[in-house]
Amino acid sequence: MSAAGADKPALDISGWNRDTRPQDDFFEFANGGWLKNTEIPSDKTRWGSFVILAEESRDAVQTIIDELSAKDGLKNGSNPQKIRDLYRSFMNEERVNELGVAPIKAYLQVIEGISSKNEFGKIWAEAGRLGISNPIGAYINQDGKDSTRYALYFTQSGLGLPDRDYYFQDDERSTGLKEAYRTMLARLFDLAGLSDGLKKSETIFELEKRIAGAHWTRVENRDRIKTYNKKTREEIKGMLTSFDLKTFLEVSGVANESSFIVRQPSFLEGLNATIKEASLSDWKDYFKARVLIDFAPYLSESFAQAHFEFYNKTLGGQEEPEPRARRAVNLVNGSLGELIGKEYVQRNFPPKAKARMLDLVGNLKVAMKQSIENLEWMTTPTKVAALEKLKKFNTKIGYPDKWKDYSGLTIAPDDLVGNIIRSAGFEHEREISKLSKPVDQTEWFMTPQTVNAYYNPSMNEIVFPAAILQPPFFNMKADDAVNYGAIGMVIGHEIGHGFDDQGRKSDGDGNLRDWWTEEDAKAYEARTSKLVAQYEKFEPESGFFVNGQLTLGENIGDLGGITLAYRAYLESMKGKWPPMVDGLTGEQRFFLSLAQIWRIKQRKETTIRRLKTDTHSPPKFRVNGPVRNFDDFYKAFNVKAKDSMWLAPEERVQIW
Ligand SMILES: [Zn+2]
Repeated sequence: MSAAGADKPALDISGWNRDTRPQDDFFEFANGGWLKNTEIPSDKTRWGSFVILAEESRDAVQTIIDELSAKDGLKNGSNPQKIRDLYRSFMNEERVNELGVAPIKAYLQVIEGISSKNEFGKIWAEAGRLGISNPIGAYINQDGKDSTRYALYFTQSGLGLPDRDYYFQDDERSTGLKEAYRTMLARLFDLAGLSDGLKKSETIFELEKRIAGAHWTRVENRDRIKTYNKKTREEIKGMLTSFDLKTFLEVSGVANESSFIVRQPSFLEGLNATIKEASLSDWKDYFKARVLIDFAPYLSESFAQAHFEFYNKTLGGQEEPEPRARRAVNLVNGSLGELIGKEYVQRNFPPKAKARMLDLVGNLKVAMKQSIENLEWMTTPTKVAALEKLKKFNTKIGYPDKWKDYSGLTIAPDDLVGNIIRSAGFEHEREISKLSKPVDQTEWFMTPQTVNAYYNPSMNEIVFPAAILQPPFFNMKADDAVNYGAIGMVIGHEIGHGFDDQGRKSDGDGNLRDWWTEEDAKAYEARTSKLVAQYEKFEPESGFFVNGQLTLGENIGDLGGITLAYRAYLESMKGKWPPMVDGLTGEQRFFLSLAQIWRIKQRKETTIRRLKTDTHSPPKFRVNGPVRNFDDFYKAFNVKAKDSMWLAPEERVQIW
């Protein structure tokens, strides 16, 4: 893999499309040549900047696994043994094929043996421990209103299609997807030796549709206030009258919890009605479907193929499965993420990269501070609170100070499904044990080998895993324009999340608390609603539009990211004029670097699915969307009223 500062050109001019003017379609100008000449690999749903980095990260993980596997005499129970044998258990395709449905047979039999709906509490709790999905998702997180303690959350779950809306649309495309989903269910039932697969696929679909009917939309689920509903055990019992809550909590290992946070109270009520009304035998088929879908990728080839055909090919447009070794790496990354991560950073993350990042983050925070201080639309009381929140931002870079422990986990080289189940159970115990402990501020929610970054509102922190700190995001050899346009934008984006339409609802201590004056909240919303309207007009595929509400937080992050990074960049020049490089001004290079990090090509099916499920706008609009709101972009490229990128000054949205 390429360490930070590899010898790739900082700006890849060869990927431009000079037939398009930057003033008319900036994304196309900066990336069009590359897009035209690039074919998405047949085993991928998208390709480009961070997807390629993610490939390189998986190459690095593969190297780690190979080197560990080649060593003799690994001690049983040691970390290297676990990594090696989890990988081997997936790679042993012969054994996996030989076993067929056998590894999950016992679970299917348990479901068949259910004699009354009173057993659902036990069954769902056991499923949760095994990592099998069910209608009630339970998880541990910091209490949204008291970040010093952990709480148990309930959230809607239990669907086989990517979103509730898929169940209610009846245009030709959606009907085709439903048919394909049913075909997969029927196939999985047949493969498992269960009768009447096709007929049952209809029953299962209809039951899921009823569950989906009680689901909140993704836009509703973004609302941090509406999804914070603290309930006592009695109150939840009142909502789930047809469900054995007591046993559910006992078997889940959380019998002592007296209060819970329910994200969607009306969902529990709707689910309760469905428990009552749907027949036991329909429910059993539904449970079997959950087990089959969740484990199909780890069973014999025909199971994995049926799963791939629907979830990857039909829904994502992926032409063929990734090589088995790639999928094995995914499994190791998923189940033993920090064990691999520790090795990964030792080999791939130079300490000087961390120092440089701390520098950049510091500069971006200064830019945010100055932006808040100079805002015309925000009054002093809100500014004081905003600055207070900014001051309390924590930053994590590269890798965690404290690594997760896997010592109680048993991994066997010839037991793939057993490994997955033990791993799920192990993580379940890790999670519920949090309920009796103080909040662990050192925890990371991404592994170091992940090419991504996040803002965590409960910890009020921005986090940058090692794997994103590479070109084209972060380049130790490139000039400041390139780095501020790329990783600077990413840092600004994550800071921006702390103040986006949802992030702004919590304070510097990570607690939901309204620290805005009414007047300032109104002024803020006047700006963001204009942004919603702008993005709703974007049409990435004919007839399919961006959901302005669903993507609002990310779009605010993108706009803020550009603004802060640009100001920090100018600040870093210390009053000097940015130098020309390759005939381009520093300002132009800043924006071109930004466009380059979103150089992604994705399949039509994937774009359509993401428009429904992803809170991020498609790559093109993560560039053109924010820059056309930013005055300095107009200056850098001399954009005029007749140009397609032009927005009249009064239509431009400026938040920071
Ligand atoms: Zn984001």
